[in-house]
Amino acid sequence: MSTLPPDQGRSWWLREALEDPNLAGDETPRLAADVTADVVILGGGYTGMWTAYQLKELEPDVDVVLLEQDICGGGASGRNGGFVNSWWSGVDELAGRLGDDAARAMCDAGDASVAGIGEFCRRHGVDAWYSADGELGIATSPAQVGRWSDLLEAAVRLGYRDRVHELDEAGARALIDSPVFHGGVRIDEGATVQPARLARGLRRVLLERGVRIFEGTPVTRFGAGDPAMAETPHGSVRAGAAVVGLNAWAMHWRAFRRLITVRGSYIALTATAPERLEALGWTHGMPWWDLRAGIHYVRTTPDGRIAFGIGGIQPGIFRRIGPRFAWDERAVQVLREDLHRIFPTFADVPIEAAWGGPIDVSGLHWPFFGTLGKAANVHYGLGYTGNGVAPAHVGGRILAHKALGTHDPVLDLPIVDAEPKRFPPEPIRSPGAFVANEAIHRRDASQDAGDEVNPFVDFVAKLPRRLGYNLGPD
Ligand SMILES: Cc1cc2nc3c(=O)[nH]c(=O)nc-3n(C[C@H](O)[C@H](O)[C@H](O)COP(=O)(O)OP(=O)(O)OC[C@H]3O[C@@H](n4cnc5c(N)ncnc54)[C@H](O)[C@@H]3O)c2cc1C
Repeated sequence: MSTLPPDQGRSWWLREALEDPNLAGDETPRLAADVTADVVILGGGYTGMWTAYQLKELEPDVDVVLLEQDICGGGASGRNGGFVNSWWSGVDELAGRLGDDAARAMCDAGDASVAGIGEFCRRHGVDAWYSADGELGIATSPAQVGRWSDLLEAAVRLGYRDRVHELDEAGARALIDSPVFHGGVRIDEGATVQPARLARGLRRVLLERGVRIFEGTPVTRFGAGDPAMAETPHGSVRAGAAVVGLNAWAMHWRAFRRLITVRGSYIALTATAPERLEALGWTHGMPWWDLRAGIHYVRTTPDGRIAFGIGGIQPGIFRRIGPRFAWDERAVQVLREDLHRIFPTFADVPIEAAWGGPIDVSGLHWPFFGTLGKAANVHYGLGYTGNGVAPAHVGGRILAHKALGTHDPVLDLPIVDAEPKRFPPEPIRSPGAFVANEAIHRRDASQDAGDEVNPFVDFVAKLPRRLGYNLGPD
């Protein structure tokens, strides 16, 4: 079933944020003329808005136009789990594929962005519920036990022994008393936010700084050249440079089609039940994710709710981003069952909202930033793979420097101008990704139930990794 729920696919986060007049702000106009700018930005999510913010930080007089088909924060940036993470959970993969120095540089840049987002909120009075409590990586089935050992080993080797701590079963349950917690790791870096409050706060600051934002304005064509241009149904922008921050919607554009594959990520939010959280010992703000391939990511809210997420679901074979990414009945059913398995004491706590959003999965699990065209003045950032809140802050710095042609050490990160791993062309890619995704979820479900994994299912689930892709824990 793909009908939209009564909230039309808007996340609870965004609806909550829009109740605050400061964050709702006045509607911005649709673009209805041909205009010029120094930089035109496509997409009003974190990537586009952090780029605009950094541009104004670097050159306050730069003339920036931002085009968004919906409202700022209407995409993944207003729907996500609000985990503000560096790249610690994948430090072993980073080190293995790129080397220790590159992994260190990535984690340091990510940590700086975790702190930088908190600093932005303080400086601009944005109440995004920013809370820096670190994070937990937890085994929610015996099959996941020890899957953190490579991560731990890499963190120690890179000199970060003091930041990542192993937890045995008792240690994990002392932090959050779930009957299915079997140990894991505690990572000191990391924060949470109310994601839509952050997105709408960014929009407010950009408007205050003179960025011209046009919402309800889909870009229908764009290109590099002298000047770079973006066309919309009722107007166009010609600019010295363009920045593309279209997330999963980039799959609609030929230039990006083979650089990402798109999956859904879904969240269910319970009613407030602070006394149940207290009984679990979960009065600290630490969020957790588990070590499945179809990852659960779970956190609380200050008023005592659980936001329970699951990543990496592909809702069918599709060629365009459709409504099932905002609401998928099957995903809600899975969320409900998994929430109650992990937290049985929440079985009678109502689920008050559920929603989803598309994620831009890259071949190697981390984002990439590059430049298109001979004129080399269209820059893009994509491929966050469900970890984009802090990385898009790094991305905004990268893209702002690219657009201005200025140098900064952030441009030396290995995610800048590296050739991303390509996915196969259609008609192989969508059905192939769907079959592998189904196998990955069936394997996760068998392991959660303590059953033997069917060898054929296991074989198919491992195929992406055999082909050199990193789509999550093996
Ligand atoms: C349910 C969910 C949970 C997640 N949880 C986390 C988490 O806890 N932590 C984390 O780090 N990451 C998480 N992520 C990922 C994170 O939200 C994204 O990586 C991040 O928001 C990407 O920002 P963005 O600006 O690139 O994309 P978006 O916020 O999606 O912005 C892209 C924008 O482009 C607009 N657009 C598309 N096409 C056009 C067009 N033709 N013309 C004009 N505008 C267009 C869209 O409307 C959209 O607003 C999650 C994602 C989802 C969906």
